[in-house]
Amino acid sequence: MKCNTSSTFEAGKFTSQQSHWWTSLQHTHRPNFLMIGQSHVEEVLRHQLDIPVTYSTQVNSIAESSSHVVVTTDTGKTIVGKYAIAADGARSFVRTTLGIPFVGTKPEMIWAVLDTFIETDFPTCPEIITFQKDGQSRVSWIPRERGMNRFYILLNGEITQEKAEASLTRSSSQRRKWFSTFEIKERVADTFISKNGHGRFLLAGDATHVHAVNGGQGLNTGIADAFSLAWRLAFVIKGHGGPLLLKSYDEERRTTAAGVIDVAAKLVRMTIRTALEYVDIIEKNAGYITGMGVAYPPTTPLVHDSKHGDFTAGHRCPDVWVTELPATSHHPTLDEPARRRLYELFGYGKFKVLFIGKQDPAAFEAQAIEWQQQVEVWHIHSQNERLSTLIHEYSADWVTPDEEAVVVVRPDLYVGYVGTDAMTYLQSAFA
Ligand SMILES: Cc1cc2nc3c(=O)[nH]c(=O)nc-3n(C[C@H](O)[C@H](O)[C@H](O)COP(=O)(O)OP(=O)(O)OC[C@H]3O[C@@H](n4cnc5c(N)ncnc54)[C@H](O)[C@@H]3O)c2cc1C
Repeated sequence: MKCNTSSTFEAGKFTSQQSHWWTSLQHTHRPNFLMIGQSHVEEVLRHQLDIPVTYSTQVNSIAESSSHVVVTTDTGKTIVGKYAIAADGARSFVRTTLGIPFVGTKPEMIWAVLDTFIETDFPTCPEIITFQKDGQSRVSWIPRERGMNRFYILLNGEITQEKAEASLTRSSSQRRKWFSTFEIKERVADTFISKNGHGRFLLAGDATHVHAVNGGQGLNTGIADAFSLAWRLAFVIKGHGGPLLLKSYDEERRTTAAGVIDVAAKLVRMTIRTALEYVDIIEKNAGYITGMGVAYPPTTPLVHDSKHGDFTAGHRCPDVWVTELPATSHHPTLDEPARRRLYELFGYGKFKVLFIGKQDPAAFEAQAIEWQQQVEVWHIHSQNERLSTLIHEYSADWVTPDEEAVVVVRPDLYVGYVGTDAMTYLQSAFA
């Protein structure tokens, strides 16, 4: 469900309403706040898996050598692998066993979370409503899928379900689906990879970072960790890259986790301020909250400090429009050449080297022939005709006739390099 409006309710009436949270987000064609329950997300991911999932089994011992890892479960099963991903949650057995410090702060706030169906004469609407009383905003009402409602409630003293329900509007009756409390902790693991970044246990998700739920960034950040790790691990296992690829996972995602914790920390402390101030912080940090504005610093190994137009190394590749050229058109019956978004055309899993404008891909293409499994070559220029035999050749109205640049887009669709020498960048990535 889309939910792009947030309003404030105080003393019996709506006192503010705004709908421009995500309008500052750049290079996305879908600037929406989407409400999708975690169980649905997990269900979709489970369907994509091509391996079985074993439930109700605890890992109770781990070991690693210079060539492999060994994981043993409480059912007596022993699994040997080249690497193991530990996504075992905030109390991670793997992180604890490896002795990786998980440090941070605890702002002494306990929240109640209530998922419920309600009957009410309150004018319900698909908006996030923050209830303000005495200058504080301690209750948020978030519409969810299937007519369900989520309430975040900051209470003083002992937190009980009865107290949480009583703090909601008097004129509603509820069918509770789920109630929980959570104590805010803000922690990030010292390293996301065992042996100080050189080992074979790779940590992801809540095992590496925990923070307030305000801003709804926990699962999103965990999935982004997995997304960031998956292609790197696939490259390393297939022998297309080495320690630098995994080191860059650790550095990029640890920096991101610290940024996410900062945003969530600001938000959770703003709840005892006015609702408008709270919403203002959300708007300012929309890039982090949605993940669309997360950028990796040029101090990390796979980001070469460089920029050309909208392409900035360390940022998501902009989702720009390109136009199909006649011989590649998937719409041969259309008179008008088809305009496509780059993300419709991009697949994940390979580096893409974009030759823009006058930059000729021919020499690179010949040199990179041995990297066919890892690298795709693209040409985006201002001409209305094909200039090469490349499969990925398009024209674009944002390319000027004199423009030239080479952009390396990583398999996670982050820009890694902008300049003229893609070869050197890729050689160091695959080393
Ligand atoms: C009330 C609440 C509201 C939230 N709302 C949002 C939101 O709106 N948006 C958002 O993005 N995030 C939200 N989150 C955060 C989100 O739920 C977590 O960030 C997310 O579940 C983390 O996923 P994970 O896979 O890393 O860890 P978990 O979901 O904790 O999964 C870890 C798994 O590992 C298993 N495990 C642990 N130890 C072992 C072991 N020794 N052997 C085998 N298995 C083990 C556990 O049983 C569990 O299944 C919310 C969290 C809470 C508590």
